[in-house]
Amino acid sequence: MVLAFALAAVLLKTIDSRGFLASATVGFAVMYGGGPTWFVIVAVFFSLGVVFTLYKYGYKHRLGSAQGKGGARNWPHILANGGLASIAAVWNITTPGIVPATVFLGAVSTSAADTVATELGLLSRSKPMLITHPSRVVTPGTSGGVTALGFVGASFASLVMGVMALLLGILPDPYLILPVCMVGGVFGAVSDSLVGASVQRKGYCVVCLKPTEALKHCGERTRATQGKWYIENNIVNVLSTMAGAAAACVTLLALVPLI
Ligand SMILES: [Zn+2]
Repeated sequence: MVLAFALAAVLLKTIDSRGFLASATVGFAVMYGGGPTWFVIVAVFFSLGVVFTLYKYGYKHRLGSAQGKGGARNWPHILANGGLASIAAVWNITTPGIVPATVFLGAVSTSAADTVATELGLLSRSKPMLITHPSRVVTPGTSGGVTALGFVGASFASLVMGVMALLLGILPDPYLILPVCMVGGVFGAVSDSLVGASVQRKGYCVVCLKPTEALKHCGERTRATQGKWYIENNIVNVLSTMAGAAAACVTLLALVPLI
């Protein structure tokens, strides 16, 4: 099932061959450590990502901010988003319980919230503003830029993850699941924007001179003009899944005495 899903992703051209290996690794870790219910959660996140990436893809492509290669994600992107979830799954083998499950849900909800917020936010009619300086308007696709539509997207994606986790019974108490996923996902996505607005690397391509956040462009290393040179998008994703997982755990700790 894991391989079939990863293969479907390749056929849908959403990942390349190394992305296939990375996805299969994350898929096996989650399936083995968390079982089929955890795997379904990852599959739902993945499907949300595909649907919202391909939604109005032509328009986003013209905007110049769509994911490259028809929306294909490469392997560092997959490991950055699936890494903490896989660690939680492996942790669940040694000490199964609600804490690894909460870390897992917080991390996956963050990735889902961030992906949907980014893709929906690109379609916003109002220009994105910088989360740290709301008076500063930025180009769509700039890290740290936020829109109301993006926030709605983050909340929606976290809610979908929460409802799925509820239906699958991933945490023993249903009253815990929705708040854990909602707080984890939204906090994680907001952290992503905060890091994106402050310390994330921004620069330009030395060949075509276009502004870019990537490490490489036109086959050459880009020059950083802003932020820390080593904090690129995938590092930001790792940090935000950690922040989302931490927020989910705090929510769990706050709610457990009440139940
Ligand atoms: Zn270039």
